[in-house]
Amino acid sequence: MIDYQSILNNIYQEVIQEKDKGEIATYIPELANIDKNTFGIHLQLISGDSFSVGDSEKKFSIQSISKVLSLALAISKVGTNIWNRLDVEPSGNPFNHLSLLELEKGIPRNPFINSGAIVIADILVSLLDSPKIDFLAFIREISGDSGIDYNYKVADSEKKTGFNNYAAANLLKSFNNLENDVDVVLDFYFHQCSIEMTCSQLTKAFYLLANKGKCLANNKILTKSQAKRINAIMLTCGFYDEAGEFAFEVGLPGKSGVGGGIVALLPNEFIISVWAPGLNERGNSKLGMQALEQFTTQTNQSIF
Ligand code: GLN
Repeated sequence: MIDYQSILNNIYQEVIQEKDKGEIATYIPELANIDKNTFGIHLQLISGDSFSVGDSEKKFSIQSISKVLSLALAISKVGTNIWNRLDVEPSGNPFNHLSLLELEKGIPRNPFINSGAIVIADILVSLLDSPKIDFLAFIREISGDSGIDYNYKVADSEKKTGFNNYAAANLLKSFNNLENDVDVVLDFYFHQCSIEMTCSQLTKAFYLLANKGKCLANNKILTKSQAKRINAIMLTCGFYDEAGEFAFEVGLPGKSGVGGGIVALLPNEFIISVWAPGLNERGNSKLGMQALEQFTTQTNQSIF
């Protein structure tokens, strides 16, 4: 039996001593004041036990991690037709890249770069009666936690400064790959990114992806095949132009956000969330990646 608590404690002790903690994402002004020294991990085993260290109960902005949850809701409703509007290829580009290579014929390369997530947001805006209310209800349902909410200040902050996302949405609109108004879709997208969760809430939200589509309360949310495919996209596209490095160092499907969170999972075994707000030059949590590299090395558990 692996002594998970000791491993997490050791990783915590080692990683918090690191001098270069990376840089906070300041392009969303409301995120700029976060303390670089915060660091937390939560590990949930599918067999039931869970383990924590550090600031695992502090809320942070999940940002792009929300793209996995919006994809899950959209796939559960639309099924495979979703792939008529976007692709599943790694982009090799930063998350906010606008090149036509990424947007070939208005089809985003994958659902985790911003243009792809904006298409998913458009699909949800078309499908849901009250998109923001219904999306939050979905996240609360799969996590079994009614305390999860949007941070309206963060959403507003991004709305005022998200010029790049307005450019992406307008480009998609020009290619007829956006059904709704740019402003309406981006309002939804900025809110989904502003959701705040703790490491332990995040592991619970992602439980269904490690558990063949069944959430913590054992309700079937996705088919086995849908869960498998979302995990495949996390492995190949979850870290933008650093997806190869994450597979190489950590060896798990996962997703990062510019709030400094990372969630990763080993199907049928565990889900692990890390939060360390300092980012590396590719926009992924610097200490979060180090901690996960240590975790899969020390436990000898990865998909490889
Ligand atoms: N809301 C952020 C954006 O659209 C999300 C980016 C991220 O977390 N990588 O720029």
